[in-house]
Amino acid sequence: MSQPVQQRILKTAIPGPESAKLHQRRTKAFSESFGVTLPVFIESAGGGILVDVDGNHLIDLASGIAVTSVGASHPKVTEAVRKQVERFTHTGFLVTQYESAVQVAERLNALTPGDFEKQTGLFSTGAEAIENVVKISRTYTGRDAIVVLSHAYHGRTLLTMTMTAKNAPYKEGFGPFAPEVYRAPSPYPYRWSGHPDDIAQQAFDQLADQITTQIGAHNVAAIIMEPIQGEGGVIVPPAGYLAKVAEFARENGIVFVADEIQAGLGRTGDMFAVNHEGVVPDLITTAKALAGGLPLSAVTGRADIMSAVPAGGLGGTYSGNPVACAAAVAALDALVEEDLPGRARRIEAIAKPRLQALAGEGSHIGEVRGRGAMLAMEFVEPGTKIPDAAAAKQVANHANSNGVLTLTAGTYGNVIRLLPPLVIGEDLLTDALDVIEAGVGTLA
Ligand SMILES: *Cc1c(COP(=O)(O)O)cnc(C)c1O
Repeated sequence: MSQPVQQRILKTAIPGPESAKLHQRRTKAFSESFGVTLPVFIESAGGGILVDVDGNHLIDLASGIAVTSVGASHPKVTEAVRKQVERFTHTGFLVTQYESAVQVAERLNALTPGDFEKQTGLFSTGAEAIENVVKISRTYTGRDAIVVLSHAYHGRTLLTMTMTAKNAPYKEGFGPFAPEVYRAPSPYPYRWSGHPDDIAQQAFDQLADQITTQIGAHNVAAIIMEPIQGEGGVIVPPAGYLAKVAEFARENGIVFVADEIQAGLGRTGDMFAVNHEGVVPDLITTAKALAGGLPLSAVTGRADIMSAVPAGGLGGTYSGNPVACAAAVAALDALVEEDLPGRARRIEAIAKPRLQALAGEGSHIGEVRGRGAMLAMEFVEPGTKIPDAAAAKQVANHANSNGVLTLTAGTYGNVIRLLPPLVIGEDLLTDALDVIEAGVGTLA
């Protein structure tokens, strides 16, 4: 199997007639409660390109939401998957075992920060990893309360949507929510005032005060936060904030968890986003990029915490599926061997200055931010900080209909996120940035 030609090619309008036909069938057959960014249907994908059923080659700045960091058909991953499905597809790791699950655990234990004995548990989805990190932290500490941040995204299951901050569409109508989830304010430098150091201190003081006076530190099992908030709008906390929270957690016997499901595994230019801050969490959750596109998630961290739950307390039918594990071993090897964190830094070096150049005085772009290949533009009404979701949508629509797939995000829906595969070619990236620049140019 060869990768599609790495070039943007438009043969029809986007979506084209074949996609439109399929979308009509989808609308009838498939629950309409699922959204879609761009209603095209994909026939093949790889590198930085998605090929749709009309033969259009779209530049991928989404990676299926930060999943296909190694590309959607990395030769090592597809070969590992092919070999594994020929041997066996499933045994149930709770029933009989296979080496690849152990290999994934060993690799994650080695790649994650922290010079202590570590263990890993494998699951299938990101939300499931978060659910389990809560179960583990509660058992280990004998406490109930979970502290999360505003603008957080942790998933769509009952517990994880409770932990997620944004009401519509994630929570609206789905209550009652899970108890014992508390929310502290997230430091959002663009929307808070003052020096970043002061914002870090203020946000930390509010969290510590809330925990001490309203919950009781001795009741808190875990503090769970994204080191860069993805769905919330690629919010990068001010330097020093995560370290203060980690230290407070340590002093109070609280498990400090970094949800690296979106930011982890090379995306931000380091293997984990906490590494930029020198912060060592007790536990780290990973998923999205872990298995090169197959569903696999993990909780990794301090061995004494990871084995606190009695045997049989964790797991699931598909936990650590062997096909996903084979893919993960290949994807993690590619991540290291091809220095994909280095590629993420290169993407930032190319893209960030170009985006920043669009964000001049009186423009619709209030801020360009992010790290590595996790970048974003926040759209506002010119001269103000009033969120302008319509502007973000207009630029995203322009990009999408010109063959550049982008994602919007943000609590106010006014952020465009760039999450390209880390293997994207520089010519493709430059072409995509030209299209985005033209899209920003359409704003009055
Ligand atoms: C996507 C995401 C999740 C949920 O992962 P799913 O696989 O969709 O359940 C949790 N946390 C973060 C930070 C995410 O980006």
